[in-house]
Amino acid sequence: MTQTSVQTTHYVPADLPTSIRHFIGGKFVDSVGGETFDVLDPVSNQTYATAAAGQQADIDLAVAAAKNAFDNGPWPRMLPRARARVLHAIADAVEAQDARLAELETFDTGLPITQALGQAQRAAENFRFFADLIVAQADDTYKVPGRQINYVNRKPVGVAGLITPWNTPFMLESWKLAPALASGCTVVLKPAEFTPLSASLWAEILSTAGVPDGVFNLVNGIGEEAGDALVKHPDVPLISFTGETTTGQTIYRNCAANLKGMSMELGGKSPAVVFADADLDAAIDSTLFGVFSLNGERCTASSRILVERSIYDDFCARYAARAQAIVVGDPHDPKTEVGALVHPEHYAKVMSYVEIGKTEGRLLAGGGRPEGLTEGNYVSPTVFADVAPSARIFQEEIFGPVVAITPFDTDAEALALANGVKYGLAAYIWTTNLTRAHNFAQSVDAGMVWLNSHNVRDLRTPFGGVKASGLGHEGGYRSIDFYTDSQAVHITLAPVHTPRFGGN
Ligand code: NAD
Repeated sequence: MTQTSVQTTHYVPADLPTSIRHFIGGKFVDSVGGETFDVLDPVSNQTYATAAAGQQADIDLAVAAAKNAFDNGPWPRMLPRARARVLHAIADAVEAQDARLAELETFDTGLPITQALGQAQRAAENFRFFADLIVAQADDTYKVPGRQINYVNRKPVGVAGLITPWNTPFMLESWKLAPALASGCTVVLKPAEFTPLSASLWAEILSTAGVPDGVFNLVNGIGEEAGDALVKHPDVPLISFTGETTTGQTIYRNCAANLKGMSMELGGKSPAVVFADADLDAAIDSTLFGVFSLNGERCTASSRILVERSIYDDFCARYAARAQAIVVGDPHDPKTEVGALVHPEHYAKVMSYVEIGKTEGRLLAGGGRPEGLTEGNYVSPTVFADVAPSARIFQEEIFGPVVAITPFDTDAEALALANGVKYGLAAYIWTTNLTRAHNFAQSVDAGMVWLNSHNVRDLRTPFGGVKASGLGHEGGYRSIDFYTDSQAVHITLAPVHTPRFGGN
């Protein structure tokens, strides 16, 4: 089916780096053994840079630098206000260069430029939020009158290993860097190998803002090499991971040997449930944005839409017409709504699901490469209706601009469909019936629920999934909890009545 609107230009930002290096102990360095990997841009699929491919030796150096900065440097010992000032300076720097950050991110990832700009601004907001949080932070104290005072002595855990995926990489890195640094940890970041460009920009931003050498370390590389070495390193007591569920399971096993702290933000197959009494115009806008924004490469994408049967035909027709009119093309064009998928390997995966979908559902829009876009990882926004819950496109995370629509007759059936997958990240409920909305929200298997809204998140709220979508919640003070140990200190206020062993 023909996409009605495509943008065929290909913008290349000025002054693109041709080599992307590690950043260890305050210096840009190559891999000890000189290993590199190619970095492609998703519009031409040509190599535009080589990146240092970290190995065990590089991780060892980065962890040693981070451990030295933690054990001997000022960062963990600074007053919260002093660290907060540095974090605000980072946010200022990100905001000041948001346009440049966005154009580099767009070039590397294929995300539409307007959305990459929003992600850069959100990255700045993450730093501001955690700067404010640590200054305002209170900890538990308990008094037992006349006998005891107990208080929590919050301590940064040490060297945090941060492993991030390629979707919205700069923003997701900020999501881990900001609370880890705010807490006083030092870090080793291993960004995704498909998209290393924006991660390398953190080095200068953080150093200029006043982060001491060795506090922030970056090692690029392949997951099974650099990522694996970081996960298994004995001097890294905690790992914050965002990525695929299967990778998370591997990391979980590998953390067991050292009993590391872990936070896992994993895959999703989130339902949007549209009841007949919903504001249909708003539901259509939101469910389109929910799955086609960020190219559908979004963990919280509403990639399954469950629609009450009495409005099903109308919903499908209107939804498909809008999907077909989505502007696909050059990610740098501000009119573009869906850009190019991140990498040819991922494009092949998404396209294979499009073909599977043609055997599992009724194709209403898209279904392949848009006409007129002969190169690059472009997929037309693709809509399948009448998708059975047993279908692979209903069950499996596609992570692209592909949506499955399924009808339901009763609230109970809608809930069973919503919960009938292994994932449990987000859910979006569309109804004007308040009682139904709250009851559904409380019964649905999802770490996060939006009622009559797409994904708009207050940074104070918990973020995370249940079932195969993750382990632990970050967000707000929970992130600080993850990067710190809450040591309990007990002080006696009165003579202690100790049983006198051996004192008969
Ligand atoms: P991925 O799991 O392939 O890779 C994520 C990171 O893990 C990369 O840096 C990779 O190099 C590294 N890695 C891979 N194997 C490793 C290993 N054995 N040891 C250590 N590190 C290893 O994921 P991806 O394809 O980059 O990202 C897409 C996935 O991320 C999707 O499933 C998406 O739902 C998920 N995601 C989840 C959230 C969330 O908050 N729940 C947010 C964004 C993305």
